[in-house]
Amino acid sequence: MDRRRFIRNISITALVAGFSPSVIATNNSFFKDKKRNALESGQWKYLGGERKKAINHNKSAKYQVAVIGAGIAGISAAVAAARGGAKTVLIHNRSVLGGNASSEVHVPINGAYHYQNKFKIDRETGIVEEIQIENKYYNPQDSWDVWDHVLYNYVTREPNLTLMLNTHAIEAEVKGDKIKTAVCFQQSTDSKHYISADIFVDCSGDGTLAASAGAEFRTGREGRDEFNESYAPEEPDGWVMGDSIQLSTKDMGRPVPFYPPAFTIKYEADKAIDRKITQLNCGFWWVELGSDFDIIDVTEENRHQLLGYLYGVWDYVKNSGKFPEAANLALDWVGSVPGRRESRRFIGDYMLSQNDLTEYKHFDDAIAYGGWSLDEHCPGGIKSLSERPSYFWQRFNKPYEIPFRCLYSRNISNLMFAGRNISQTHISLSSTRVMATCGVMGQAAGTAAAICIKRNVLARDIYKKHIVELQEQLLRDDCYIPNRPAFDPNDFARKAIITASSTKSGNVLLLFDGISRDEVEMIHHWESQGLNEQLELKWDSLQTVSTIEIKCDTNLHTEIELHPNVDKMKKQISGPPPEMIKALSVEVLKAGAWVEVASIDNNLCRLIRLNFDEVQTNVVRVKLKETYGKTSIKLFELRCY
Ligand SMILES: Cc1cc2nc3c(=O)[nH]c(=O)nc-3n(C[C@H](O)[C@H](O)[C@H](O)COP(=O)(O)OP(=O)(O)OC[C@H]3O[C@@H](n4cnc5c(N)ncnc54)[C@H](O)[C@@H]3O)c2cc1C
Repeated sequence: MDRRRFIRNISITALVAGFSPSVIATNNSFFKDKKRNALESGQWKYLGGERKKAINHNKSAKYQVAVIGAGIAGISAAVAAARGGAKTVLIHNRSVLGGNASSEVHVPINGAYHYQNKFKIDRETGIVEEIQIENKYYNPQDSWDVWDHVLYNYVTREPNLTLMLNTHAIEAEVKGDKIKTAVCFQQSTDSKHYISADIFVDCSGDGTLAASAGAEFRTGREGRDEFNESYAPEEPDGWVMGDSIQLSTKDMGRPVPFYPPAFTIKYEADKAIDRKITQLNCGFWWVELGSDFDIIDVTEENRHQLLGYLYGVWDYVKNSGKFPEAANLALDWVGSVPGRRESRRFIGDYMLSQNDLTEYKHFDDAIAYGGWSLDEHCPGGIKSLSERPSYFWQRFNKPYEIPFRCLYSRNISNLMFAGRNISQTHISLSSTRVMATCGVMGQAAGTAAAICIKRNVLARDIYKKHIVELQEQLLRDDCYIPNRPAFDPNDFARKAIITASSTKSGNVLLLFDGISRDEVEMIHHWESQGLNEQLELKWDSLQTVSTIEIKCDTNLHTEIELHPNVDKMKKQISGPPPEMIKALSVEVLKAGAWVEVASIDNNLCRLIRLNFDEVQTNVVRVKLKETYGKTSIKLFELRCY
């Protein structure tokens, strides 16, 4: 055997056996046999040699829950399903997480904002807040690229969750009314993956998998009469809101020229209505192109034109002479991935519509809420310069409810969805599409998927038989459902007599009222006078305790999202919310002495869940030590299990 062939054979064997070449040299005959077996079994694929086989990268895997698309909805769904005990896979077609909120698109996570009440903002809690508080901690430099990896850290550390990046779910293999397998293509490994699962949650926005399974969907705008929507057009049509590309600029400290590229499309500013050119550091959301028919099909065409329009507006800013403040500004980043606002909306057992939102309809199966204004963008986007870019039909006074029946398919029984593709009208989407709202829907869908696995049921059964369990789990996991206080009979904190070392505002009894945030007309908190305070829970008889859960203050009426507008970022507090508890410990009274059973020194979450070995006691005390800056401590809930 010549030397080259010998070395090649050694490395082939090393690859097959997973050992290093130095080990192989001492056990050569064993590995020759191994090599022969590998050849015979067809594992040896494409390294050349005696026998050539066709490249075969097909792989298959089975999970309990498969989530498609890792925007904010998909991340929330996958993490919730995994935490709920389901073996979960998150399949995402980009190399970074976050969808429109990623460094590829630069869209800020907004949610229940613009209220016409004293709060103005009533931020979402649960997973969507957890992620953003971590970002405040790990990424005080407000870098979009680092934010991608804050998300990556958050997802990859979840024990029950497998992440597949660069993987596009192409189509569904369906049996009866169920998806059996998602056929996926992973670009980075040139592999086809056949992913089977009991429950599929399509959070991809476009819903390629769901559509290929035959799940019923709509696109376009409903006519006014169908849902009695005053803001809808008289007749239905095919228009969907547009895709946009964002930009960011940097100040060079000296005047810099701008030379427009060949694909620039001239911006006709004199014809434009209400298109504000103010946020020169982060671009113009109204540079937007939609579609009258199938926006997915024209993505590449629209992308090219969008770049042209965007460079056209920037050319106008730099070279019209009307923006002297832009003299020193240069483009620093221009997106290449268009962000999408609308495409398919899948049909569930209920379709949310304008009046449900504007009349604050109460649903017994409410699992999430929204509050962004009805922000419908005009047909034509930047091609309709003579129309206002968004109608901003109406703002809300308080949160509206989103029912669970909008999150599962009416004709594919093991398919759920969350995000912009849920069961709703175009007008409803004009408000619900913001990403914190998508995130709370995602957490609800993922939690429901885990209950499906635990109870061996399908999504519709959750609505019919397990909706209370779903709501209670969401509330326990720090989601908010308007008009739905928590009442978990297993939580025995409510049976205790509670005392506090001091009270500045509120009342300790409010920690048990089931509502974990202040509402406009009603407070639900207890606040201490200072730091190093304590709460004591006392029962008549011994209790077996192994978990203490607290919901602390993170000031839900402030902004914490990563925003592309650097001027807005400057108004935010850097680092975690100063109100949030940083350090606390739990002690129990045992044989007349206090014993510490749990503590935390670097808390990064509004929901503080402390698990410890079961202990029998009739007195528990929670020592609230430190915050991230505020000199008093505010809590909204205290639970014991
Ligand atoms: C320019 C612009 C400005 C906006 N402004 C705001 C704002 O200020 N605040 C706000 O909250 N919202 C804003 N929105 C709306 C918001 O970004 C979207 O409605 C939101 O991103 C929808 O969230 P999602 O999780 O459903 O989908 P996405 O964020 O789109 O995430 C879905 C992900 O799934 C992936 N995917 C798609 N198909 C597949 C597949 N077949 N297989 C695997 N992966 C797949 C996609 O690549 C994508 O990353 C804006 C949108 C745009 C375009």
